[in-house]
Amino acid sequence: MRINRSIRVGIGALAVAAIASACGGGEERSASESAASGQLTVGIKFDQPGLGLRNPDGTFSGFDVEVAKYVGEKLGVAPENITFREAPSAQRETLIQNGEVDYVVATYSITDARKEKVDFAGPYFIAGQSLLVRSDSTDITGPESLNNGKKLCSVTGSTPAQNVKDTYAQDVQLQEFDTYSACVEALRNGTVDALTTDDIILAGYAAQYPGELEVVGESFTEEQYGIGLARGDDETRTKINDAIEEMIADGSWANAFEETVGPSGFPLPEPPTVDRY
Ligand code: GLU
Repeated sequence: MRINRSIRVGIGALAVAAIASACGGGEERSASESAASGQLTVGIKFDQPGLGLRNPDGTFSGFDVEVAKYVGEKLGVAPENITFREAPSAQRETLIQNGEVDYVVATYSITDARKEKVDFAGPYFIAGQSLLVRSDSTDITGPESLNNGKKLCSVTGSTPAQNVKDTYAQDVQLQEFDTYSACVEALRNGTVDALTTDDIILAGYAAQYPGELEVVGESFTEEQYGIGLARGDDETRTKINDAIEEMIADGSWANAFEETVGPSGFPLPEPPTVDRY
């Protein structure tokens, strides 16, 4: 009787463990523990030139990639031991919560809603929302001009699209895709009239298609880019905040920016102050 009972309890415990691991292995492990094992998995964008881009030869480039590598080195992991994983806007919280990535550096704005699910180190950059249009279009000059049913593209799970609709243009028609590169194609082939997201992202696409796409108007939000990591992993968050401060102080931050974003013509801004909330 006693044996039977402990077997039953044991089977129950195994079942619970199996369910837990099926929900995404590694969720108990902090990013510092991953780093101590010599490997890190980092979420970045794969389709944002100048920020997070997977090149045709399988290498990765961009400012977010450089920030991710610098932070990795400060956590004790060499760049060749970092595995980059695509983190589309709508999947960033889930990838972190499931332990599928150790941290995310992917044009990821620090917001109160996201802070309910993940924590943020940073900010390491401050961007602002803006608009990208075809160079031959004349009637879109800012977010208000999207009224009258203009078709506006943005990405599911990102902050910008809803902001335009809520704040500036109730009559805009929102079309949401999974990635910004899909929006760029829709803009180029005339399916949408404009694309909205952060100015630094749009500058990369405008530079890809000079004379065809351009950024219009002033930026109209403040987007503080953070490095997302598991909620409550304060040890790693402190280390990442230290790393960001060092990257700014030793000149690597400005160098990385000039090499990655610089060619798009986007000017080097003042570095932000890390917020240890
Ligand atoms: N920074 C904004 C956000 O985190 C837009 C850029 C993006 O979707 O990556 O939602």
